[in-house]
Amino acid sequence: MKDSYHLNTKLTGLIGHPIKHSYSPLIHNVAFQLKELDYIFLPFDVPTVNLKTALKGMIALGIKGFNITIPHKENITQYMNNVSEEASIIGAVNTVVNDLGKLNGYNTDVNGVYETLIPFKEEISGNEVSIVGAGGAARAVIYTLIRYFKPSTIYLINRTEQRAETLKNYFVDKMKYNYFKTRELFPPDLIDVFRNSKLIINATSVGMFPESDDTITSLNNSFTKGQIVFDLVYNPPLTQLLKTASSEGATVLDGLKMLVHQAAKSFEMWTGEEMPVEEVHKTLQLYIKG
Ligand code: NAP
Repeated sequence: MKDSYHLNTKLTGLIGHPIKHSYSPLIHNVAFQLKELDYIFLPFDVPTVNLKTALKGMIALGIKGFNITIPHKENITQYMNNVSEEASIIGAVNTVVNDLGKLNGYNTDVNGVYETLIPFKEEISGNEVSIVGAGGAARAVIYTLIRYFKPSTIYLINRTEQRAETLKNYFVDKMKYNYFKTRELFPPDLIDVFRNSKLIINATSVGMFPESDDTITSLNNSFTKGQIVFDLVYNPPLTQLLKTASSEGATVLDGLKMLVHQAAKSFEMWTGEEMPVEEVHKTLQLYIKG
């Protein structure tokens, strides 16, 4: 970490509540150091009641840009001067650029999903995929798949099926993609859906530390060889879901690459420089291993 900051040091950060478990300060400060940029990234714990005032403060202090996390990603869009196309369709902003007092909102989770899945584009296009979850992360996943990967069918699976149905209707309307099917998350009834999916994505928090033994399905026969299973959860990187899928021969992708790539896009917007993603990824892996 840099040991001196001065008048020219540019400030970036993260607004959320709570934020104490975020890896973003580590990711960005390591990247600033690797690139020898005179920037710093600080976490700001801001409850909803203070969000609007905090944004005014960000402008007043000339902060270059910041990330937004739970619970403000949706709520913050109303305070933006401009919202990008993807953030507008997804309905959530995770990155803000302060352009001389004008706040521009973006959603860089799209870049995280895109960079993680792009090596498998041919396998995904024209095939069935399953997405478990119907929250903010699922929205970024659905947008990216429809926009860049063109699957033949998207199964939207959620504990509360009504939320999946609402999400389906939303995307049919917004993106004119009509090939959704919705299901309740009840693993014994989903074996065939999962087995027939070329790609399965967990976009829920199931399996996240400290509930690391939990999984969206513990049924080994949900998975097959040649399948791709992507878990957005990044702590732990190797989730119970990925362990089970891997034991059946599936290719497994953890949430860390997405985390680093969504950060890389924010970094680029704030600094105009590319983040050294491989080195940052390795640093993060070492940090998590302890
Ligand atoms: P969210 O908006 O709170 O959505 C949570 C989703 O998880 C809902 O679909 C919810 O189902 C489901 N869920 C929660 N607990 C469950 C349980 N016990 N059993 C079954 N389903 C459950 O959260 P989010 O922002 O979408 O984030 C989801 C996950 O993605 C988190 O783990 C987050 O850390 C991760 N994420 C990772 C990255 C990355 O860069 N790797 C980026 C963004 C998010 P109901 O609708 O039934 O409540």
